[in-house]
Amino acid sequence: MMEIEKDMEVEGSHILARQKTPESEKILDYDYKKCAGCSICVALCPKKALLEGPLQEIAKGLDAPPVLIDLDACVFCGMCVNFCPLKAFQMTVLEKTPLPEAAKTAAAQV
Ligand code: SF4
Ligand code: SF4
Repeated sequence: MMEIEKDMEVEGSHILARQKTPESEKILDYDYKKCAGCSICVALCPKKALLEGPLQEIAKGLDAPPVLIDLDACVFCGMCVNFCPLKAFQMTVLEKTPLPEAAKTAAAQV
């Protein structure tokens, strides 16, 4: 089975969810200050990985994200990035180039 690592961190208004595999690293960047809480992404996420935050309290002035990400459920498909009208979600994909067979053999012989 392919090894998948996930983690999440907060940097200012950005919630950064990361998925690392041997082939790639994907970073889903949710800037909650750009989010209007319209819940389009919550309705469209195919894995139900997005949940509404405390919208009533946010409307009264609470500083909290309108959308919460369930890191375990998210498969980093990028649909939320495509559908958010305010571009509150961004995705960065870093592909890792696999070593060519010859290089692997040479590395194994060192
Ligand atoms: S679609 Fe965009 S603006 Fe609407 S709730 Fe999701 S992240 Fe926020
Ligand atoms: S990347 Fe895909 S699975 Fe993850 S929250 Fe966005 S729509 Fe849902």
